[in-house]
Amino acid sequence: MKLVKTILKISAACIVLFLLGGFVYYSQYIKPFKEQMSKTMLVNFDMNLMVVQGGGGNSGILLLDSMVLVIDSKMYEAAKELYATAKKISDNKPIVLVNTHYHPDHVGGNDLYSGQTIIAGGNYSPQQWKNETGSANLPTIWVKDSMVIETKSEKISILNIPNAAHTESDIVVYLHNKKVLFTGDLVLNKQVPMIMGAGNAPGYLTALDYLRHRYPFSTVVPGHGNMGSRKVFDTFSQYMLDMKEAAEHPEKKDELISKYSDWTHLPFFMSHNATIRKFKL
Ligand SMILES: [Zn+2]
Repeated sequence: MKLVKTILKISAACIVLFLLGGFVYYSQYIKPFKEQMSKTMLVNFDMNLMVVQGGGGNSGILLLDSMVLVIDSKMYEAAKELYATAKKISDNKPIVLVNTHYHPDHVGGNDLYSGQTIIAGGNYSPQQWKNETGSANLPTIWVKDSMVIETKSEKISILNIPNAAHTESDIVVYLHNKKVLFTGDLVLNKQVPMIMGAGNAPGYLTALDYLRHRYPFSTVVPGHGNMGSRKVFDTFSQYMLDMKEAAEHPEKKDELISKYSDWTHLPFFMSHNATIRKFKL
């Protein structure tokens, strides 16, 4: 009887500690992260291109002669606002949506675009898309290699990364005249990547090498964080190289991690250590 009581006491203490830990984790990390994620900031790049940062993944709205191109549909309220803005400036021209990948913060507003053209990476199967997004509103064009849209004012390349990196089929969008590259979550600005499921850390390096000299981009719109110059791309590439180095040389880990101490992170699964672990697989 005494043993049962002791076991019950220990179990109760464990549950309290677990709940307390969960509460601290939520209030210290998840809540501020969610708040940061839900904020939006509109940047008018020029007369034809708006970049809407936050509210999920970063998005673009590009006004063309014959259509409006939207890059990533965000989530929750921000998704509705993005769609309303695109609809307003479209003046009844068709809206074409490009999804950089299937994560909910980038495709959460897709159902608003039903009946319109939706473009996504061709390494995914439709069933996989349904499973990951929970939506039966499937993309209408699956880009296996690349797709070019040429209009009077802009040439747009939609490129599918051949190898698994952030996911199995990451799409980037390059605007040739504006020299703007939308990277989805292949590049983040001052935020640690979340590499889950099919995400592949060495694959990031392959993808970034594949992109580095492919286009002469001068502006980068990352998946999360502020848009910026080519330096955003280079800094993130260096981060991934440093985490690979830390995986191979544990004695250098602390010094390498300290270079990125001000980056947004979530302990355990969106952290420097989680990235390093992915390089060790
Ligand atoms: Zn993602």
